[in-house]
Amino acid sequence: MTGTRHAQVVVIGGGQSGLAAGYHLRRLGLDFIILDAQPEPGGAWQHAWDSLRLFSPAAFSSLPGRPMPVQTGQAYPDAAHVVGYLTEYERRYDLPVHRPVRVTGVHRDGGLLRVETDSSIWRAESVISATGTWWRPFLPAVPGREDFRGRQLHTAEYRGSRDFVDQRVVVVGGGNSGAQIAADLAYDTELTWVTQRPPRFLPDDIDGRALFDVATARRRALDEGRTDTGGVASLGDIVAVPPVREARDAGLLKASPMFATLDRDRVVWADGTRAAADAVIWCTGFRPALSHLAPLGLRGPRGRIATEGTRAVAEPRLHLLGYGDWTGPASATLIGVGRPARDAAGEVAALLDAGT
Ligand code: FAD
Repeated sequence: MTGTRHAQVVVIGGGQSGLAAGYHLRRLGLDFIILDAQPEPGGAWQHAWDSLRLFSPAAFSSLPGRPMPVQTGQAYPDAAHVVGYLTEYERRYDLPVHRPVRVTGVHRDGGLLRVETDSSIWRAESVISATGTWWRPFLPAVPGREDFRGRQLHTAEYRGSRDFVDQRVVVVGGGNSGAQIAADLAYDTELTWVTQRPPRFLPDDIDGRALFDVATARRRALDEGRTDTGGVASLGDIVAVPPVREARDAGLLKASPMFATLDRDRVVWADGTRAAADAVIWCTGFRPALSHLAPLGLRGPRGRIATEGTRAVAEPRLHLLGYGDWTGPASATLIGVGRPARDAAGEVAALLDAGT
């Protein structure tokens, strides 16, 4: 462990959100560093399954300053393409990312914040937390989950259909991950796709572009003090990217309602119907990875921290970026994180100005 070092701003997390923050901090001429737990660039995209496709074309999946290049032969880029883009992005803007460095705790330390890591201690006037959600998979409490003897995994651990050929697989979840993984498995496995409510496919001509427009309209409404339009949830849940559309049109994506329990080797519905299963894949979402902020004592309902824009209400030196709509409409998307990143950097600069 080296001695304590100082930066005006410490950004925690070097995925797309941390890089977008870095881009704007650089433009404002601030002294900052980015601490990232991964050994390589690319954030969560490094761990995505092979067939994952973005729900927007490349041109609508860009961070500030640098359009994502088109991926040859793919209208909707894959995760490896995003990793390449993020790697090039941090190099192009010469962003000071230190890795692998895991932040273990953020503490108040007089007028500064102290950022403790597994290899160093930093003191900073301001902290931007951009640690994403991938690192905190959520699994619902379904009776019998511990009794099931087959394989259970979460979206975050799924790699591809090759691991399940000819097996009886239950996929749980009616969002984009559930639909894409069900489509991936539909050809080579005996698939049961289970969703809490009937799947809501967006019209085929609507993709991430339209979702972003809706999020932008929502942001405008909020900015102008008008009624919250509710964001993208009102449109549907599943973007019909080509592999999902193909499996759906082939009649392979029929969903069943959620089962009630699991036992040793099957899932069981409330009416007694059963389906034998070798594996259950929980595509049931993620929660914000905020444990490093616990020493600040800011945690509110649902594990979130109260924010105004990206700023923590009870700790103005802390900003939260990229966790979901509660940290800025569409902030948990490639194209959507740019604006809240700009706002966060601007507020940090104003705070530093006020303190000098
Ligand atoms: P991450 O990519 O998770 O990056 C956070 C970084 O912080 C990681 O490198 C992590 O190692 C690091 N970190 C975490 N904790 C610490 C710590 N304590 N100390 C130091 N470093 C830490 N968005 C789109 O725009 N289009 C899509 O098509 C799309 N598809 C998605 C599909 C799936 C299955 C999922 C889950 C999300 C998708 N998203 C999509 C949403 C979003 O773009 C991604 O979740 C994206 O990875 C979020 O970026 P991030 O930088 O906020 O977080």
